[in-house]
Amino acid sequence: MAHPYNGIEAVLTTQHHKEKLIAPALAPLGIKVIHHQFDTDLLGTFSGEIPRTLSQRDTALKKARIGMEDKGIRFGLASEGSIGADPLVPFINSAIEAIAWIDDVHGIEIMEYERGTEVIAVKTDVSSIDELGDFLERADFPNHALICYQAGGKGNIYKGLRELAALEEAIQEITKRGSAVVESDLRAHMSPSRSEVIKNCAQRLANRLSRQCDECGTPGFGTTSNLYGLNCEECGELVSKAVRGELESCAKCSHKQEQLNGRAKASAAQCERCNP
Ligand SMILES: [Zn+2]
Ligand SMILES: [Zn+2]
Repeated sequence: MAHPYNGIEAVLTTQHHKEKLIAPALAPLGIKVIHHQFDTDLLGTFSGEIPRTLSQRDTALKKARIGMEDKGIRFGLASEGSIGADPLVPFINSAIEAIAWIDDVHGIEIMEYERGTEVIAVKTDVSSIDELGDFLERADFPNHALICYQAGGKGNIYKGLRELAALEEAIQEITKRGSAVVESDLRAHMSPSRSEVIKNCAQRLANRLSRQCDECGTPGFGTTSNLYGLNCEECGELVSKAVRGELESCAKCSHKQEQLNGRAKASAAQCERCNP
């Protein structure tokens, strides 16, 4: 039987042409992505001029709803990124990309997340262009664009800088009044390394949507959380943080199933008693 999404249209609300990153992953399912241009900066910006008040999840869902309402389409999606200190690994930045999928025909909302640790996100503070040193190399300029603004956040923000002359001009202009902050422009179309994470997240969503629930047939059956708890290989104590598999759930009904990862015991390194 054909997949329920074969032949549907879904509206993607985006400002920065993320359809090029997301639509190809959904095409094999027969989902046609309709682009909806919307000034998503109204919901908060990366560069911080407009603070984001909603969570990443709620922002993505809200964007998706905006496109669905404007276009009158019952399937919608949107992505939202967040970049900052990695929650697990010290001293690196990581990007968490989220894509929301809303299906008002089946009455489901699905979120998929992808973490990327290779995203180039660097920042420096200079009083003249000569102080940049090896910064442009670390920033992978001009492959990755930069933004530039006055320290303290007053005045213009120069965005999408991809030419040395334009960067020099921005720094010269800003340093007349104070020091200039130069940092990675993390908008998806300006940051190839972030674009990769969005593509991977879209693939993850496509994989999730491709699976239907065995009980009710609703698309989107997949991993919703980890399963924890294994006994220590040395002392036998229960190690509650050891992952023993994943829990897969239906987005619609209560059907769930466990996917065990094959580990029978926790390593002693994870055990509080053996390795306090
Ligand atoms: Zn132990
Ligand atoms: Zn179900």
